Amino acid sequence: MAISLSELIQKLDTTLESDRYRDYCPNGLQVEGKSEIKRLVTGVTACQSLIDAAVEQQADAILVHHGYFWKGEDAAIAGMKRRRIQKLLQHDISLIAYHLPLDAHQTMGNNARLADILGWKITGPLEPQNRQNIGFEGELDKPVALADFGKQIASGLNREPLLIAGGEHPVKRIAWCTGGAQDYIDHALALGVDAFISGEISERTVHTARECGIHYIAAGHHATERYGVQAVGDWLAADCGIEHLFIDIDNPV
Ligand SMILES: [Zn+2]
Repeated sequence: MAISLSELIQKLDTTLESDRYRDYCPNGLQVEGKSEIKRLVTGVTACQSLIDAAVEQQADAILVHHGYFWKGEDAAIAGMKRRRIQKLLQHDISLIAYHLPLDAHQTMGNNARLADILGWKITGPLEPQNRQNIGFEGELDKPVALADFGKQIASGLNREPLLIAGGEHPVKRIAWCTGGAQDYIDHALALGVDAFISGEISERTVHTARECGIHYIAAGHHATERYGVQAVGDWLAADCGIEHLFIDIDNPV
């Protein structure tokens, strides 16, 4: 089975509601390749290794969470960016990217999928006042010590998280936002939860956690954002009958 590139983009735009978001990069088609898609490769970031793997798999398109053309980056197509785009164009492979829409989708988004994988119950949005909200508030079945919560995350994501204790209290009510959302710890504080989970950490995050009495868990930017794009790829495969292959290019951050 095949789907036309334009139909695929339209389907993704509609389902992920991409026009709801003011984002840091263009969402949707970023580099145009062949007009028919039979085989789709998904991945977290459109790095050279993912492109090389997609070429090897004879993919027609690549769908990622982290694409190109970020606000503030040098607009010139040179160096690393040239090599990546050159390979895509050479092999007629489209690059499709969705950033915030892929974090936020209520069932296939990174934040919803993280809750599924780790068995967390969603109870509300992380930022109730923000119409571009992407994270969630939620809770665990029963209270656990921070160290045990860390072990649950490690086994679910296959990666050891960094735990910053904000006191002695157990973890029951939580909030989370995948990726580089460590500064959203302030929104978690406003909710009064026991712990906040994101991907990365900054030096200042440690002080906020310790001084404001909230546990902070850095579970990995890549590790927390592997699941949304996979879910979307699986849905497209089931819905349009195309082949889908998720390729995980390891990233320790
Ligand atoms: Zn990210």
